[in-house]
Amino acid sequence: MSRLIVISNRVQPPKTGPGGNQGGLAVALLAALREQGGIWFGWSGETTEEFSGHINFQQGGGVTTATIDLEPQDVDEYYNGYANRTLWPLFHYRIDLTEFERDFGSGYRRVNQRFADTVRPLIEDDDLVWVHDYHLMPLGQELRDRGFRNRLGFFLHIPWPPARLLLSLPSHRKLVETLFAYDVVGFHTEDWLDSFRDYVTKQLGGTLGPNDTVTYEGRTIRAIAAPIGIETKEFEEAAAGNDARFARERMYMSSTGRSLIVGVDRLDYSKGLTERFLGYERFLQQNPERNGLVYMLQIAPPSREKVNTYQEIRANLDALSGRINGEYADIDWVPIRYVNKGFPRQTLAGIYRAARIGLVTPLRDGMNLVAKEYVAAQDPSDPGVLILSSFAGAAAQLKEAVLVNPYSAEELSDAIVKALEMPRAERIRRWEALIDNVRREDVFWWCDLFLAALRGDAGAEAAAR
Ligand code: UDP
Repeated sequence: MSRLIVISNRVQPPKTGPGGNQGGLAVALLAALREQGGIWFGWSGETTEEFSGHINFQQGGGVTTATIDLEPQDVDEYYNGYANRTLWPLFHYRIDLTEFERDFGSGYRRVNQRFADTVRPLIEDDDLVWVHDYHLMPLGQELRDRGFRNRLGFFLHIPWPPARLLLSLPSHRKLVETLFAYDVVGFHTEDWLDSFRDYVTKQLGGTLGPNDTVTYEGRTIRAIAAPIGIETKEFEEAAAGNDARFARERMYMSSTGRSLIVGVDRLDYSKGLTERFLGYERFLQQNPERNGLVYMLQIAPPSREKVNTYQEIRANLDALSGRINGEYADIDWVPIRYVNKGFPRQTLAGIYRAARIGLVTPLRDGMNLVAKEYVAAQDPSDPGVLILSSFAGAAAQLKEAVLVNPYSAEELSDAIVKALEMPRAERIRRWEALIDNVRREDVFWWCDLFLAALRGDAGAEAAAR
């Protein structure tokens, strides 16, 4: 079996032992690396005054990781710049927040070249190479420019924007052309894949062929949809474990019989937190008889704090939650518990299970794993209700959730009422359909599916689908 080389912006070394708290993507990639052998390569998260190309190898948990340090200017231009001020907002349809700076583009190119130069000697002839996410789109092309002939795959974990939006990116054409250096390009949903195809056919003059192939200037690649899942079995077990039970009891004790509505999101404008708070406020306004009987817990760990728009969204939410609480709270009740810190996933599992409603309402999201975790954590005999934005990638699979337009305060308010009133039989029926998908299409399924496509193993891919 050929080795696997995973390349992503950051590397997640295995965490072992009890309390190992690792996201689904890392769990699946580490499992694949353990099975096939190989290396996970990326940025260490550290800076150095002058880039040296020195690689720091680490071994542990059956996996080798290899990281490099970047210069402060690299981090400003590539990570905080092009990746998170240009591509992230634009690809989440937020052209109003997108910053276009030439230096960001050159930093992005420079870091992708640094990645290519340093990782190239580590790769053997038969290795499969799997590049992840928007930080590294041109990496495949940089590797090909260095004479690289291996099978090369790329997966985009965020949405692909409609062509009309993408056109506002200076040198959009060049960026998209680089994707043709890969053999397989993956997206989470048919929607994102459609937008990609639309751009390639209408803007580049490319053509679509059978079996998900796309051809441009004589180069044919496969562009596929493969929705990522969670490590469902482990998560279900975590939800029944001690840490989760402790968290759940803490929630019940402090709830004093009130129904909990939970939201868990990185503090990011794409998550629709402002709109969610406004929707909840509308619910409080329109249902005075329910005030005091429910409360919302919003967990929102800060992220990307060096980027201005993230400082702004944080200030807005501080003000908005304060205003809503000031207006509606009583001496023994606060409508929103707004918590700006992160929790281990075992704890989240318990909180999800204690919650009557999981409120997952991003304005745009490549997938959204919290929605799937909420489903996996429920008590099968008395499950809660998932309210899910139809603009999250997860909505394509989780059709039995209560789907909402996250921009509409009225729809959010109505959905909360509907969820609170939903009879147990209906909650069970919907949950069974949801968990069926979350179990079947878990993160290991996703990983196998993409790797089968990357190996060109049509039989294994068809079997997985
Ligand atoms: N998460 C966590 N602790 C927190 C908040 C979130 O471990 O306090 C995890 C959460 O369990 C989920 C991930 O972070 O696995 C968020 O993934 P998602 O796809 O929902 O959103 P992203 O942050 O990748 O945009």
